[in-house]
Amino acid sequence: MFENSIKAYEDAKKVIPGGVDSPVRAFKSVGGTPPFIDRGEGAYLVDVDGNRYLDFVQSWGPLIFGHCNEDIENAVLDTVKKGLSFGAPSVLETQLAVEIVDMYDNIDKVRFVSSGTEATMSAIRLARGVTGKNNILKFEGCYHGHSDSLLVQAGSGLATFGTPSSPGVPADFTKHTIVCEFNNIENLRQCFKDSDDIACIIIEPIAGNMGLVPASEEFLAECRKLCNENGTLLILDEVMSGFRASLTGAHGVINVKADIITFGKVIGAGMPVGAFASTSDIMEQLSPNGAIYQAGTLSGNPVAMAAGLTSLKKLKANPEIYDELERKSKKLVNGLKEVADKNGVALQVDTRGSMFGFFFAEKMPTNFSEVSNLCDFDRFAKFHHEMIKKGFYFACSQYEVGFMSTVITDEEIDACINAADDIMKNF
Ligand SMILES: *Cc1c(COP(=O)(O)O)cnc(C)c1O
Repeated sequence: MFENSIKAYEDAKKVIPGGVDSPVRAFKSVGGTPPFIDRGEGAYLVDVDGNRYLDFVQSWGPLIFGHCNEDIENAVLDTVKKGLSFGAPSVLETQLAVEIVDMYDNIDKVRFVSSGTEATMSAIRLARGVTGKNNILKFEGCYHGHSDSLLVQAGSGLATFGTPSSPGVPADFTKHTIVCEFNNIENLRQCFKDSDDIACIIIEPIAGNMGLVPASEEFLAECRKLCNENGTLLILDEVMSGFRASLTGAHGVINVKADIITFGKVIGAGMPVGAFASTSDIMEQLSPNGAIYQAGTLSGNPVAMAAGLTSLKKLKANPEIYDELERKSKKLVNGLKEVADKNGVALQVDTRGSMFGFFFAEKMPTNFSEVSNLCDFDRFAKFHHEMIKKGFYFACSQYEVGFMSTVITDEEIDACINAADDIMKNF
């Protein structure tokens, strides 16, 4: 039933390290062969063996309208016919910028890049350039892409400068990165006591890279306060939560305003797009008008802009989509919780708009070490494996979240809950 995927994986491993271009795709934490995907069809993925899966990953977030949405597809095809890239300005960039800037009252200007990694990397350079400070503060368990200074882990103490979490990153490159525990106000205050050279805090306001772990209101308020008091900029990394948690991302559901916001995923609708945005004052310090350098050959690519523009226009024209996505996300996780309870399986669930999370744990984790220590990873692996066999495609790690799309129906959600019930009976 997975023969073609097994063969495809073997072939891929001969010419691509680990057979994949992004490590999570290799299914290391759950085991088994990752299905090789032939195509998407609305709510479904279809693999090279013809197996169909209800897709709760959606390319890790971008595909809020599911696969092959006709409007987005048509916009892309029309744009493709006019050329793939110009390396010169096109009006599509302005149009997408207008859509994004219109949605937020604290940003005036946006610059496009080609990935979330580039967005956060550029936002950090901007923050350093604007403040003239060197250090950056990030939180354990938040992911902001794979650039050198962000690939850090906490040292032995609580408030520490990070040490590289990957070979290939010189310790010199991470010595300006301070790592703090997520949702730990005391630890955060200590970091500012220890250093008066912090250019920015970068945070996922709704963390989605250690499972779904929202920052508490008090914690975000403290981030804002400390930034104000110390001449530090607050970067909200909304690469995942932007246009996902609500029409205005995490900003729409929390009370804290960022100085710089980073975007990716949904704003490209499946094409490679990232962006960072701020006030005119800050953004005009970028080249060409300012001295802070940042560039990209394919940045603002017209085909990618057309996809993102169509997607955002559809979302903006139908804001009720978000209520519906949230309702369906809740229906799904509450259903999973119900069958888990019935089968005596400890499960914690939560949602933020179309992002949903579930942990096989007795208690809801609030930071990275709690996720690592409280969750039953064997159980998750078994659940994941059996769900794949039944045609439900969840993210292949408990450190990831799930995504609801507009094309998933109530009936499909019911079927998913029933399948989970069958599996948990045998836990
Ligand atoms: C996915 C993600 C990134 C990195 O984006 P890429 O496009 O994979 O480089 C950065 N920050 C957050 C919060 C993300 O979820």
